[in-house]
Amino acid sequence: MARRYPIRKIKSHRAYTFEEVADELGCSIQTVRTWSKQGLSIIDDKKPYLALGGDLKNFHAERVAARKFSLGDTGFLCTSCKTVRQPLGAMADYIPLNDRRGYLEALCCACERRMCRFVQARDLNVFSAKLEIAVSAK
Ligand SMILES: [Zn+2]
Repeated sequence: MARRYPIRKIKSHRAYTFEEVADELGCSIQTVRTWSKQGLSIIDDKKPYLALGGDLKNFHAERVAARKFSLGDTGFLCTSCKTVRQPLGAMADYIPLNDRRGYLEALCCACERRMCRFVQARDLNVFSAKLEIAVSAK
């Protein structure tokens, strides 16, 4: 998983040197240089190079948005494939944690490793419409 940075420490209307960005966010200067190569806009007509706080905030907001994904109705996050996968054979086991919550356990359709997804018990009928669900005892 990509690292999270305390981007709220950055002020929108301030210009930062790469060293100041690294200090504020707790990363290395090389990380800030890498961001500038990846699309962070910088003021580079003279040294020291500067990054505007607003640009930094936008750059990070786009990176966070790019990492978001939706599981959809019956998707599971496979931690081996690092993507959303459907359960093998459209089958899953429901393991209740209490009366209201539990988790679905299934095998990945691509790598056949175990995947889990937490669900509310009241939402089980949504899953059972599309998956064959075996309910385990508590
Ligand atoms: Zn997988």
